Amino acid sequence: MKTSFKFKNMHACEAVVLACIDFRFWKETVEFVEKELVIKSFDFPSLPGAAKAINESQDETFVFGCIDVPVNLHHAKKIVIVNHQDCGAYGGSAKWSGDGEAEQKFHTEELQKAKEKLSAKYPDKEIILVYAKLENDQNDINFVRIV
Ligand SMILES: [Zn+2]
Repeated sequence: MKTSFKFKNMHACEAVVLACIDFRFWKETVEFVEKELVIKSFDFPSLPGAAKAINESQDETFVFGCIDVPVNLHHAKKIVIVNHQDCGAYGGSAKWSGDGEAEQKFHTEELQKAKEKLSAKYPDKEIILVYAKLENDQNDINFVRIV
């Protein structure tokens, strides 16, 4: 396959987006970042649980490498972290026995915790937190900005 290389001669990107590896969410996450956040160039590392990787990793060199390269080499100004509902890395929705509100509250706290860690390391970056929530009997994904 041959295709055009859109980023010829470009070595900087606007953001780094850290999302979960989950196949059910990443394509829509890319769409959300492009359309809603209007970010057209971004590095896109994915690790199980997204914020979980930052909060719980035993190997910080590896995890922060996913952020360091975009920030230092590609001069990304924004860091976006996307957690999602029914995340297997956290035990799935089953862990909250279907209480979506409690699950969202938990992910909100996880994201905020990750933000604190990242702000300490990258004080001049804008950090955007997002929770991908399942709605309408799981027919829709709603990307909710956490403030
Ligand atoms: Zn996940």
